[in-house]
Amino acid sequence: MSSNSRLPPPTVAVIGGGASGLVAALALASGGLQVRLAAPPRAPDPRTTALMDGSVRALEALGLWERLRPDAAPLRIMRLIDDTGRLLRAPEVEFRSSELGLEGFAWNLENEVLLAALDEAVAADARITRLRAAVRQVEDGPEAVAITLDDGTVFEAALVAAADGRNSPSRRAAGIDMRVREYPQVAVTATLAHGRPHRDVSTEFHTRTGPFTLVPLPGDRSSVVCVVSPDEAEQLGALTPEAFAAAMERKAHSILGRMHLLSPRGSFPLSQRTAAHFARGRIALIGEAAHIIPPIGAQGLNLGIRDAATLAELASDAARAGADVGGADVTETYERRRRADVASRGFAVDLFNRSLLSDLLPVAGMRGFGIWMLGQSAGLRRAVMREGVGPTRDVPRLLAGTRL
Ligand SMILES: Cc1cc2nc3c(=O)[nH]c(=O)nc-3n(C[C@H](O)[C@H](O)[C@H](O)COP(=O)(O)OP(=O)(O)OC[C@H]3O[C@@H](n4cnc5c(N)ncnc54)[C@H](O)[C@@H]3O)c2cc1C
Repeated sequence: MSSNSRLPPPTVAVIGGGASGLVAALALASGGLQVRLAAPPRAPDPRTTALMDGSVRALEALGLWERLRPDAAPLRIMRLIDDTGRLLRAPEVEFRSSELGLEGFAWNLENEVLLAALDEAVAADARITRLRAAVRQVEDGPEAVAITLDDGTVFEAALVAAADGRNSPSRRAAGIDMRVREYPQVAVTATLAHGRPHRDVSTEFHTRTGPFTLVPLPGDRSSVVCVVSPDEAEQLGALTPEAFAAAMERKAHSILGRMHLLSPRGSFPLSQRTAAHFARGRIALIGEAAHIIPPIGAQGLNLGIRDAATLAELASDAARAGADVGGADVTETYERRRRADVASRGFAVDLFNRSLLSDLLPVAGMRGFGIWMLGQSAGLRRAVMREGVGPTRDVPRLLAGTRL
């Protein structure tokens, strides 16, 4: 791109080429919109993502799932085990996706596999122009947003889908604050090979520092998300690969046999952050630019995909009706439709996480009673499973597998 070149106004700009931004670009283009995607190169991401049923349907509708399916493992059973060692302990409980008529609650795959497929689909879509530079300035105006890139390129868009991550420069430019709650916890992540098959079972041990979760990958491999204190995270990070794998095996009570480290380790301090507004003017926030929730219950990117699908639906419907794709009708409806989903998931994750950290007997008793009830009542179990898989209200069309 030549410096200081002026480009004709596109319909929509997507800022950020993480998973949320790439899905947003594809979803908007699938609705017939011209998209300009400003996405500088990414750092490698060694994590995995469990995509819930609705996200899988959206990727299916975007023509991507067939390619991803062989690299993804279904989570057919979710097992919760109380490993707090407290006086009042919850009984073990199992959720089966077959109770909801689903092959899996979610499908787990490596982020690099997902991102590579999204990059390829973006490159193949003639309606998307990819600009490999970071955004330096975003200026909202009554008719359009002016965007300046690091390489000097300037262009205008009627709507901005800001998917530029947790420190979102676009969010700051829009003057939107984040509400922040920090937790005294760090999620340590890694992919491990193991001696015994996982049989498509995801097992979550509830410990006094947070959940330790084994999530199946294809073959005899699983990813772990191990929520511990910052001190323990540091100790785990300093271990040799062999000692780290042995520590994970101990935390897993050897249910998957001997473990062997396959990936770099990740370390993610836990916090919950929610934007005070999901949209202002012509700028709508997507993914972690709008909300960050602890990696408990695999909600984060699933929310980001629902953001992308909702904004794409509203903008493409507006375009078809000859209305302004970045007008107040679109952005205000986006805010309303996304708020309840994000808030309810953030609330549930926060409540559950804090119940694990609390040493108060009544809190442990309440959590144990809740889990016992889930074990007893198939109706309650199904209701909780259905809610965990995704919202039942304001579901964007792509999440139901319908093309825009
Ligand atoms: C340990 C862990 C496990 C998780 N597991 C799951 C899971 O199982 N299921 C799930 O649904 N979610 C999970 N999540 C959440 C999920 O990883 C995030 O929701 C997701 O990665 C966020 O993607 P994003 O595209 O919004 O943000 P990012 O991936 O951070 O992307 C933001 C992008 O914006 C770009 N950017 C920044 N500044 C600029 C700029 N000025 N101009 C242009 N671009 C810019 C960056 O380069 C980056 O590529 C997990 C999270 C953690 C920490």
